[in-house]
Amino acid sequence: MGEKIRGRFAPSPSGRMHLGNLFTALLAWLSVRSAGGTMVLRMEDLDPDRCRPEYARALAEDLAWLGLDWDEGYGVGGPHGPYLQSRRTEYYAACFGRLEEKGLVYPCFCTRAERLAASAPHRADGRTVYDGRCRDRTEEERAALARARRPAWRVRVPEERVSFVDGHLGPFAEDLARDCGDFIVRRSDGVYAYQLAVVADDGAMEINQVVRGEDLLTSTPCQLYLYRLLGRSAPRFFHVPLLLSEDGRRLSKRDGDLNMVALRERFSPQELTGRLAFLAGLAEKPNPVRPSELISTFSWANVPRSDRAVPSALFSERTSST
Ligand code: GLU
Repeated sequence: MGEKIRGRFAPSPSGRMHLGNLFTALLAWLSVRSAGGTMVLRMEDLDPDRCRPEYARALAEDLAWLGLDWDEGYGVGGPHGPYLQSRRTEYYAACFGRLEEKGLVYPCFCTRAERLAASAPHRADGRTVYDGRCRDRTEEERAALARARRPAWRVRVPEERVSFVDGHLGPFAEDLARDCGDFIVRRSDGVYAYQLAVVADDGAMEINQVVRGEDLLTSTPCQLYLYRLLGRSAPRFFHVPLLLSEDGRRLSKRDGDLNMVALRERFSPQELTGRLAFLAGLAEKPNPVRPSELISTFSWANVPRSDRAVPSALFSERTSST
């Protein structure tokens, strides 16, 4: 049949993982392993202010502790390294250069406050859409502004509807100009933006299956546009529901009782996997299980499509023995 699956987990090492990160990691791993594919672990440590090498080490160790392995990537190496985004700056610069040569990017001198003010109506999901105020500045204006401030760089998006079929959630479409707006590919401090790096890397690493949190669904049309500009074929996307706290908030690395430190104190890897599998619709009861035991019965059809509140009782106490 078709080409061999190459999937990846691409976490940002900005703290210890929480339950939601682990949920996504387990599904990404099962999706690859059940197809006999290759799993890649890439550390998205682009942001030097938030990411730390010790978090990357802990992250890899937490995944291994749970029973998730990878064939290529962080700590293992492989033909498409380095697998740390902080070491791939030259490659991002080359991709950025290609966009620049084609006149597809422009410098944006807006401050954060100006950007917010210059945004078209804020969307329900909190995303702001830049109104393009720096898009058509003359060279003279740019030169004058550049004396006071280093610009960020944005990619120009056309008036175009981008649609795709998510492997888990089904059809999804957005209007690039209306819903995404011209988006940043390089920050004013010179750091390449997630949108550029993720497309550049998934392209270079020949990833053909991306499993990630549903919070990135609305970034996908922008990314599909970048795939096209960079002449790469896009992977198939599977967005997975987010885990919410009982009061309906998205879990974050700050939800202490559901981060890896606290979870590892309370549960064995099998107990934790059993609970994750139960939340993911892959087990009828939250009984202890190893990730490898879930491979043969894994099916996306069983995974819920909407966000899931995590019942606190499920994670607050140790209800079973291993
Ligand atoms: N690095 C991103 C995160 O940790 C995930 C990016 C992706 O999977 O495309 O949220």
